[in-house]
Amino acid sequence: MSGEIIDVGNYLEGVAAPSAEGLNTCTHCGLCLNACPTYRVLGREMDSPRGRVFMMRQVREEQMPLSELIAEHLYICLDCRACETACPSGVPYGSLVEAGRAQVEAARLTPARWRALRWLLNRVILPRPWLTRAIFTIPRLYAGSPLRALARLLPPRLRGWEAALPHPGARIPVRGPERAAEGPAGGSHEAAQAGKTAMALTGCVMEAMLPHINRATESVLRKAGYGLVPPHAGCCGALNVHAGEREEARRMAQDLIAAFERSGAEYFISNSAGCGAQLKEYAHLFEQHDPWYERAERFASRVVDLSQAIAAADVPTRRTLDTSVTYQDACHLAHAQRIRKEPRSLLKGCAGGAFRELGDDQCCGSAGIYNLTHPEIANELLRQKLEKISATGARLVVTGNPGCLLHLRRGAAERGMDVDVRHIAEVLDATL
Ligand code: SF4
Ligand code: SF4
Repeated sequence: MSGEIIDVGNYLEGVAAPSAEGLNTCTHCGLCLNACPTYRVLGREMDSPRGRVFMMRQVREEQMPLSELIAEHLYICLDCRACETACPSGVPYGSLVEAGRAQVEAARLTPARWRALRWLLNRVILPRPWLTRAIFTIPRLYAGSPLRALARLLPPRLRGWEAALPHPGARIPVRGPERAAEGPAGGSHEAAQAGKTAMALTGCVMEAMLPHINRATESVLRKAGYGLVPPHAGCCGALNVHAGEREEARRMAQDLIAAFERSGAEYFISNSAGCGAQLKEYAHLFEQHDPWYERAERFASRVVDLSQAIAAADVPTRRTLDTSVTYQDACHLAHAQRIRKEPRSLLKGCAGGAFRELGDDQCCGSAGIYNLTHPEIANELLRQKLEKISATGARLVVTGNPGCLLHLRRGAAERGMDVDVRHIAEVLDATL
């Protein structure tokens, strides 16, 4: 990147800057450094949370002009929010970096090819479910066709991408005859959830590329006794927020909140870590005096991750997994939503003692479109993650985010690893 420098005063108008309060919370203690994947890979202060907070503060205080160099470091960040978990001072890093990126976007400081890619994805394709589905029709049809037998002829790099596609016929290995459900004392789980209605989010890429995960989600929710209203078919705007496109994200949030309010459902269920984190933080998109702020807060209080919804219903296990299993924490579940316990307890419940703790919650490198814009760092993080997975000896890796699932599956196939990677909804549907 060249060192183009933009005068702060020329572009900040109308774009909310990272909040002074949030930036000033940082005491520069450095306790976040070793939790930060980009600092661990690159070893540079400017690619650490502390370094990025410092740069954003300098820009805010007009001590430093916003430049392409700053844009580069803000985008090397994965927005994984591991630094928030590590920070003892409560620096709201996620909202700071998202606001910083909004400034960068307003100043057009990112490479033109990224802007074009993001514009195409975030503004043209993903907000239109029909278009997203149409685009993914070819890979979806291919995934279920006999042509897949020829995939072994592809070069290794393409074989990895091919293997990341769904395998429609592949079942999760379970053992034992299906047992009758034994409800918790005092009534069944259905009774425990009686009258609880839920709306699920089908999402953009999930419904287009991995629709079987949405069907498994609906099936598991029904088994847990939830009454389902028609799902919200569309994008939540998470990718827009991560890319600093707040206006577009606001529109999507308003559509989604209004649809939920009209439905009369009590819960809004997310089966994607990135979407869930975004939905719970919708209020950040609006000013406090805006009536949408209160509606977004009310909505956020009804958002529940699938693992939380199922764990709360205490659904009995009917079958046991017939393989060893480990769980990969998706960053936006573990760090942004602080959900770690529920997926583990659900998996331990159906693993028959074959659950292996991964002992690593570092980002796998997927991070939305990061694996496309920063493939070197993404692949290094993927390599580290797959090594940890190998060390557990588990044959099944479970995660709660479609991006992690596709990224891990591709990496495992490229390395010839004998592991399957599945979404938690698929595993629960096969065992509950
Ligand atoms: S972000 Fe938090 S952990 Fe990191 S240097 Fe600042 S105060 Fe310390
Ligand atoms: S969000 Fe992740 S990559 Fe970005 S600074 Fe924090 S820990 Fe590092």
